[in-house]
Amino acid sequence: MVGRDAQGADRKFYGDPPDELHAWCVHDANRPLPPVVKPGDAPGQPPADAIVLFDGKHLNEWIQVPKKGGEPGPAQWMVKDGYMEVVPKTGDLKTKREFGACQLHIEFATPGVVEGESQGRGNSGVFFMEKYELQVLDCYNNVTYPDGQAASIYTQNPPQVNVCRAPGEWQAYDIIFHPTEFDAAGNVVRPGTITAFQNGVVVQDEWVFEGTTGHRARSKFVPHGERGPLKLQDHNNPMRFRNIWVRELPSRAKPTKEQVAKQRAETAAKLRAEAGKAKDPLAEMKLWLESLVYAEDATALQKAKKMAAEYADAAAKLGDGAVKGREGELLEMRSVFKYMNDHGLPGSPYEAQQKLEGFLKSKGVKFK
Ligand code: MG
Repeated sequence: MVGRDAQGADRKFYGDPPDELHAWCVHDANRPLPPVVKPGDAPGQPPADAIVLFDGKHLNEWIQVPKKGGEPGPAQWMVKDGYMEVVPKTGDLKTKREFGACQLHIEFATPGVVEGESQGRGNSGVFFMEKYELQVLDCYNNVTYPDGQAASIYTQNPPQVNVCRAPGEWQAYDIIFHPTEFDAAGNVVRPGTITAFQNGVVVQDEWVFEGTTGHRARSKFVPHGERGPLKLQDHNNPMRFRNIWVRELPSRAKPTKEQVAKQRAETAAKLRAEAGKAKDPLAEMKLWLESLVYAEDATALQKAKKMAAEYADAAAKLGDGAVKGREGELLEMRSVFKYMNDHGLPGSPYEAQQKLEGFLKSKGVKFK
């Protein structure tokens, strides 16, 4: 048990109990802790659970997107001095691996020697699942249509601000992508979203996709799978990329009522198993009671009711000295029974609460 409140006690019989939509109590010590992840050594560096797609040395994670009708081949972009560079006309690169919901970090530099204008200057793009483009473009003193400028969702949404650095300078995108979900018939169940930061500044704030990326035409959805490769665009400009890493993200979908019920049943079963093995009767009683916070069970109910009644009866026979010595425990058990009763949990009402309170009052023990 690792959850502790400000006083250092386990958070049990404390926050609101589970309900149909929540498998856990508020402030629940039984709830699994998130995994510990060692962050990168410096901001922008990959954390321990990231998949590094490019570390400046090789293109092993990438393949060349085939020209129409061709076969995918080895990546042909140049690797030099810790970065990769588009070799114009070789075509796009895509990852060998496929990703659905993910966090992506990618750094890029537009050509230091400025050539072209509008969409012709420093153009590339980060495509999620090869379908949803976050535009890469040199928009430093370069005007183009807003829904095609750097950090736009191409064709759909301009960035909130233009936070481009000068040509040749390294810039970073940090992106959270969630794919569109379809039902079996191909209808959109939940459109995908993208949140993006350019150089640490929000440029896309959970944009809800209107479709996959196209050109000139309004975007529309074409059903696709749950995962796909990441793609970098060859738009005939010698763009550079470095330090590319990705983390797969869990679904954001809230658990269904069925999933909540299943989790609650599992937690209750685990607590009942612990109760069955407990050596100390007080610990055993609390575990039976705690299991009932998550799910009803005939054995737990019977044990909890019996042990609670016996506890209150035994307590009522304690002398002044014993009451003093066990005051903390008695007050805790009174609050446990109160919690069960206040929340109408299985087995309530527990008469042990009133009995204990009457007895404690008679002994001059104060409680709220
Ligand atoms: Mg592009």
